Amino acid sequence: MKKLLGIDLGGTTVKFAIMTEDGEIQQKWSIGTDIRNDGKQIVPQIIESINHHLELYGLSADTFLGIGMGSPGTVDRENGTVIGAYNLNWSTLIPVRQMIEAGTGGIPLYIDNDANVAALGEGWKGAGENGKDVVFVTLGTGVGGGIIAEENLLHGNVGAAGEIGHMIVEPEGYLCTCGNHGCLETVASATGVVRLARDLSEEYAGDSELKGLIDDGQELTAKTIFDQAKAGDPLAVIVADKFFFYLGLACANIGNLLNPETIVIGGGVSAAGDMLLEGVEKYFQQFAFPSIRTSTKLKLAQLGNDAGVIGAGSLVTRQK
Ligand code: ZN
Repeated sequence: MKKLLGIDLGGTTVKFAIMTEDGEIQQKWSIGTDIRNDGKQIVPQIIESINHHLELYGLSADTFLGIGMGSPGTVDRENGTVIGAYNLNWSTLIPVRQMIEAGTGGIPLYIDNDANVAALGEGWKGAGENGKDVVFVTLGTGVGGGIIAEENLLHGNVGAAGEIGHMIVEPEGYLCTCGNHGCLETVASATGVVRLARDLSEEYAGDSELKGLIDDGQELTAKTIFDQAKAGDPLAVIVADKFFFYLGLACANIGNLLNPETIVIGGGVSAAGDMLLEGVEKYFQQFAFPSIRTSTKLKLAQLGNDAGVIGAGSLVTRQK
């Protein structure tokens, strides 16, 4: 059996994993992403790292069925190029496939958007349990996602499908970076939860440790808010409930539209765990269409940082 090499290219690190065709990781490592000088060194350093590790493990190029890669920015899957990956300082077109194939002795490279690739990973080896219909929602600095429908990754007309973070949950809500108001990302990202807390604290008159922290001008994180909610702080409970409402509404809309077997919730904010899942489930049950309530399950992501490399590896086997 041949092997797969999965690469998860991010703004701070590039993660690599060598795995079996069944997605079992055998070796993994990472390097820092050198975004200096318009990110010109990124691809050469990836090539160098691949070749170094192949030599280290005594593997040759023909051991590999292919390399799969998840990248930020706008990915042209047909041509293997990336443009507009601003967290990498890539503003011009980068011919990633051509460069990596040439630099690794011709191992075929497949590339897709990083959020889609993470969805493939969770869908295949994580909470999605290799289901045919899985939606992944990731709550981090922003809110991203990917949709697997009837076994296919959904790309849409120009590859912009799965922008779950820009589903509008409050038309009169906060201004989003996309120019609209009330996108899910404005309330369910790490910064969104903090914004909710600050706003709700202004109209909150009762005793609250969280309100004290906000009034003292303390640095606030999503973790602090959910920890306070778990401890029963009354303002934190209100903030968490508002967050659950928005995310539950979004999940109900996703469920009504796609009826996936599983909606997987991941990303840093999902570290709030079972409490988050139960809170979101309450509103999902309220808003979802009756047959969706029982047939679409909400689950927490299971792979953490490995979702990207595993999903990237699956890009290779999906070509067969
Ligand atoms: Zn938006």
